[in-house]
Amino acid sequence: MSERVVASDPDCLFCKIVAGKIPSRLVYQDDDLYAFHDIHPWAPVHFLIIPKLHIPSMAQLTDAHAALMGRMMVLAPQLALQEGCHPYPEGGFRMISNTGTHGGQEVHHLHVHVMGGPRPWLRG
Ligand code: AMP
Ligand code: ZN
Repeated sequence: MSERVVASDPDCLFCKIVAGKIPSRLVYQDDDLYAFHDIHPWAPVHFLIIPKLHIPSMAQLTDAHAALMGRMMVLAPQLALQEGCHPYPEGGFRMISNTGTHGGQEVHHLHVHVMGGPRPWLRG
């Protein structure tokens, strides 16, 4: 796993998804961001938002990424509603970004989980 921020890592699962080398169920994409359904959903709605740029985790973020991360935050509630989360406040959603081993991160390409829908959920 590289600590450097590179445009794309050929060994990275999520870079392969962005490149279309591994299939995914697309939720949204634009020039900078890509969103797709989690393959093992914990909740009725469970998708991931990632930057197309290979950033290993939140730990590598710098001020240069502020606008990108801001766009991700603004996009999340829009996509949550689009994917079937019920409106706030009765509905809503949960956002998680696992960072590093102690944070429970398994795929080392920065991602935000967006989970919602009626409870109970499998996890979370
Ligand atoms: P994390 O533990 O935060 O690194 O989460 C990684 C997430 O990626 C897990 O929830 C996995 O279910 C999900 N995942 C792994 N492989 C795929 C895949 N090929 N397509 C969609 N989601 C995946
Ligand atoms: Zn990557």
